[in-house]
Amino acid sequence: MSATSHPRRVALVTGGSSGIGRATALRFSEDGYQVVVWDRTPSDPVPNGTFQAVDITDSTAVNQAVEILLAKYGRLDVLINNAGILRDGQLVKFKDGELLSVLSDDQFNAVIDVNLKGVFHCTRAAAPAMIEAKGGVILNASSVVGLYGNFGQTNYIASKAGVIGMTKVWARELGKYNIRVNAVAPGFIETEMVRQMPEKILQTMRDHTPLGRLGSPLDIANTYLWLASPAASFITGAVISVDGGIVTGT
Ligand code: NAD
Repeated sequence: MSATSHPRRVALVTGGSSGIGRATALRFSEDGYQVVVWDRTPSDPVPNGTFQAVDITDSTAVNQAVEILLAKYGRLDVLINNAGILRDGQLVKFKDGELLSVLSDDQFNAVIDVNLKGVFHCTRAAAPAMIEAKGGVILNASSVVGLYGNFGQTNYIASKAGVIGMTKVWARELGKYNIRVNAVAPGFIETEMVRQMPEKILQTMRDHTPLGRLGSPLDIANTYLWLASPAASFITGAVISVDGGIVTGT
């Protein structure tokens, strides 16, 4: 059953102005959802959509934005915690016996603030409306590297593994209210950020992917749409890998 048969269903996509979030907002809109995009930067409007400038690291702003959303639509059916950032760096970098650099507090905190605390802020703000409505779906962006680790990504992986942990806690806490909570672990997805990487690295990624290609933002958007639908009504607390079969580090 698509949202077309429930034209009032509302989906909120954080970080919905670009990449996977943008593809997800467009896909949900196409399926008949009313879509609310939260981002720090606006983008072209989504059909059936509204944009709210929200920095998810600011819990007060998040709480206010949920109030505004509920005042406008009266409901929130699906929350997609997609916004995320990278600030890569090795824990300690040595060359010829000399310490060149360390992963800074700023680098660590910036990523935790958006990718982990942001997800916490948004879910805490959204859950009461879903409980009152006796149902809802929460979808969290993790990553394949949150499952397997990756060189140079202490901060990012702490956040993405943390998101998996929170997903499992919330699935337990919110299941009795008919709220399903799942994480998606994308592999390498061809967003602007990835497209700017050197072709040699992109080819290595393809070579390490059994399906022989990078993922598209639509691959992830379709997974979110399916997880939000009644077709996935018995799935909660799960981490769904959408990665073409890649196991990083192999
Ligand atoms: P992207 O950089 O294209 O989009 C992220 C969006 O989040 C941007 O529009 C940005 O403005 C927004 N954002 C950042 N900080 C924000 C904040 N504090 N408040 C509100 N919005 C904020 O990224 P993407 O590649 O589309 O990735 C989307 C999600 O998927 C991220 O969580 C990312 O970690 C995850 N992911 C991506 C890949 C990939 O290969 N692209 C792989 C695994 C996981």
